[in-house]
Amino acid sequence: MPKKPTLKDVGSNSHDQSKGGKIPKRIESTMGVRYRALVEQVPAIIYTDSADEIYHTLYISPQLKTITGYDPEEWIADVDLWNRMILPEDRERVMEEYTRTYAANEPSLSEYRIKTRDGRIIWVRDETRLVRDKKGKPLFWQGVMVDITALKQAEQALRHSRDLLDLTGQMAKVGGWELDMETQTLIWTEEVYRIHEIDPGTRLDVTEAINFYSPEAQPVIAAAVQVGIDSGTPWDLELPLITAQGQRIWVRAQGAAECRGGKTVCLHGAFQDITERKQAERLREALYTISQAAVTESLEDLYLSIHRALGNLMPVDNFYIALYDSEADLLSFPYCVDQHDEFSPPRKPRHGLTEYVLRTGCPLLVDRQSFTQLVQQGEVELVGVDSLDWLGVPLKMGEEIFGVLAVQSYTERVRFSQAEMKMLEFVSSQMTPVIERKLTQQRIADALEFNFALIDVSTMGIIAYDSSGQCILANEAIARILGATRVQVLRQNYNNIEWWKNSGLLESAHETAASGNETRREIHSMSSFGKEIWLDCRFTYLFSNGKSHLLLTVDDISIPKQAEVALQAYAAKLEQNNRDLQDLAIERKQAEIVLRASEAKYRTLVDTSPDGISMSDLEGKLLLCNKQTARLHGYENPEAMCGLNVLELIAPEYRQLVVQNAQKILEEGNVTNIEYIMLRKDGSRFPAELSAALICDKDGAPANFISITRDITERIQAIEAEKRLIEYKEEFIATLSHDLRTPLFSLVGYLDLLRNGKVNDSDVRNEFLTRASLDVDRLKVLVNELLDTSRLENNFLVLNWEEVDLGAVIMQELESFREQAKARRISLKSAPWNTTLIAEMDPSRMQRVLANLVENAIKFSYEGGDILVTGESRNGTITINVIDEGCGISTDDCSKVFDKFYQVSHTLKQNKYGTGLGLYISKQIVEAHGGSLTVKSQLGVGSTFTVAIPVKKSR
Ligand code: ADP
Repeated sequence: MPKKPTLKDVGSNSHDQSKGGKIPKRIESTMGVRYRALVEQVPAIIYTDSADEIYHTLYISPQLKTITGYDPEEWIADVDLWNRMILPEDRERVMEEYTRTYAANEPSLSEYRIKTRDGRIIWVRDETRLVRDKKGKPLFWQGVMVDITALKQAEQALRHSRDLLDLTGQMAKVGGWELDMETQTLIWTEEVYRIHEIDPGTRLDVTEAINFYSPEAQPVIAAAVQVGIDSGTPWDLELPLITAQGQRIWVRAQGAAECRGGKTVCLHGAFQDITERKQAERLREALYTISQAAVTESLEDLYLSIHRALGNLMPVDNFYIALYDSEADLLSFPYCVDQHDEFSPPRKPRHGLTEYVLRTGCPLLVDRQSFTQLVQQGEVELVGVDSLDWLGVPLKMGEEIFGVLAVQSYTERVRFSQAEMKMLEFVSSQMTPVIERKLTQQRIADALEFNFALIDVSTMGIIAYDSSGQCILANEAIARILGATRVQVLRQNYNNIEWWKNSGLLESAHETAASGNETRREIHSMSSFGKEIWLDCRFTYLFSNGKSHLLLTVDDISIPKQAEVALQAYAAKLEQNNRDLQDLAIERKQAEIVLRASEAKYRTLVDTSPDGISMSDLEGKLLLCNKQTARLHGYENPEAMCGLNVLELIAPEYRQLVVQNAQKILEEGNVTNIEYIMLRKDGSRFPAELSAALICDKDGAPANFISITRDITERIQAIEAEKRLIEYKEEFIATLSHDLRTPLFSLVGYLDLLRNGKVNDSDVRNEFLTRASLDVDRLKVLVNELLDTSRLENNFLVLNWEEVDLGAVIMQELESFREQAKARRISLKSAPWNTTLIAEMDPSRMQRVLANLVENAIKFSYEGGDILVTGESRNGTITINVIDEGCGISTDDCSKVFDKFYQVSHTLKQNKYGTGLGLYISKQIVEAHGGSLTVKSQLGVGSTFTVAIPVKKSR
């Protein structure tokens, strides 16, 4: 190489150079003319350096000019030119090479870059060797410098494209392989090793390679390879493979045979990891399946589809869906497949992994170790069977987390990783709206089903009409009440029902339809069984689905009405009995009022009678119930009753009956108005009436019982009260007849005696007259009381108000009873009043009240007893107490003595004369004054009757 700095004298210019490219004679002689012509035509720079004078260029061919732009003369003259031309970054390397080869006297070969005169960078290959004479003496250095720029560029491009290929291979996870048939040598590219997760360079034979495929794929690939060898048919397969690390992946295996002379010499092909594409494909399929299921299937089928779809993506031998109802605070498991764990019914959330995901809203993958950590941190407890891996993701709708999807594994063969978690999370996010929508649909369907069942099981008749008057809905109860079939009712248009016109029902219907206001009408009619029925009909206006409707609810009030009729009949009898003695109108009116009161009582009972509504499964387990059910059975709330068995709420002696009725419902669809004795939580009992019906699922299979429970304690009490009233009245009539007849007979007797003139003794006559007048007084009292009662009941009690000193009235009354008291050695006293007892009142009525109280006190005192009357005026109220030490009244009777005709039985035995009306009348009078009449008493100790009236009449 010319111009190289020498080892000893770098940069020395002291060489003797022959200018102008002239060749020394010595060399000239060794180079023929032909040689020179040849040299100057070769597309390379040929040069000769002196062997004596190191690095002294003796000759350089004219191609120097063509390749570098420098003249050969310039080159030979300028010792430092080469040094300036070579790129600094290559210089060191090239210098070292020269130094080494020069020292070793070896030919040297270097490739380096130089800068041409016009500034281009070119690559050159520079080769020099020492030429010696025959004796071995060095003659000169002969060198060739070739422009290899194009070669270098091609090489670089090749390297670049190889790198690119490798990179793309890695990225696309594509590798290549080759099998030499003769040596059976299998060659894999690095990517193939990477895909198999084994060290590059590991030597494998064909069988070992095939064994990487999944068991089910091995025969497929083996057959394809064999056919390839035998017939040269190429193959292109997508198969599952298990890597050395145990990962299940998908690969595309392509192969083809190379034949020479009709014989397969080599197989080669491509090998690609297509797991991601396969997963994406399966994911897409899964999502498609789920979205399809959402449109067409029920919730159960949707869950099943989700399970199946997930099964194509990961192992799902143990899979469940948990849903959380935040209102009821209940966790349910509508879908659950598990190899080891039991299906759990809905329950309150506990401290399990499902609840943890619900709480955090984040996906969770736990193995035994991380589970133990969560337990130690107090985050979770073991709920259910311990699994190896547990993977759960939340079902989220906006911010709300309404459930969890979970898969678990109990075996080492199935493990879950982040990849499955990502997939499950993705699937969950895609199907959340689907589940949510389905759930809502299901809830609506359930609510509708529930409503229909409720309507059906209701003891109240319910019918709905459209705006044309056509019936669009009717329950069983209405059919029963009307004595028709449901189909018959459904066919009707109310405008055409004849009896609606006559009964005024049509008018009510039109009124509600026109005004939107509720109307109500009581109908008396004949059922199709010829039974008299009374119906309480109520029309309500309903606007639904953009259309107006009319709702008719019909309550069968025949029972209270029949009681009313029975009482009316009884009143008629009573009237007959008393016609001769009494003003007939009094009793009739009275009976009517009693009956009206009784009817009102029944109506209130019926109207306000709060029904318990509940639903249970076919085993009798309570699934849900309303507040009233809880109230009836003494539970804090309906939730506290869920899960109880209905039998626990029934008195033991009735349980057999309940079981029989359940069977009856299963056979006939429903039972109505069955009376049981039921139990409260505290064990106390109450009578109840129960109607129940069967709810079927969409396939018509029995699913649940729905029941309406009515506490009939009040009804039973009311019936007993009615019975009592009738008994009182019967007693009353007996007493009344006796009481009227006794003084009447005695009166008639005395008058007869007197009229016949048989009694001459004036004393005796006077005595007879006194007795007759006493009899008349007794009759007068009786008649007055009956009259007063009648007036009271007809609201004819008109008070004549005056300002009166009640103290004086009391004193006057005490005086008038003094004789009567004395006869039984009873002392009648009054305590001094603290102030005057002046008030506004009707004095004669108040006198009646006091007289009645004092008379009773005397009547029910023992001989020799004390009676004290006290009075005081305080805070605008006057309070009078009439206190006796007589036989007293039991607590139970205290509440009844103010009822009409009521007489305490033990006092009756004493054969005291009375009607049982005095206290009733007195109470009405005191209340008409805006006051109150009450009693406190103890059996055998005595009674205190208290009158309290305001000083001023309220205006
Ligand atoms: P009667 O005409 O029977 O006295 P009342 O209405 O005045 O009718 O009283 C109703 C019943 O109340 C009586 O029959 C009696 O049984 C009871 N009673 C009223 N006052 C007393 C009293 N002071 N002591 C005990 N029992 C009484």
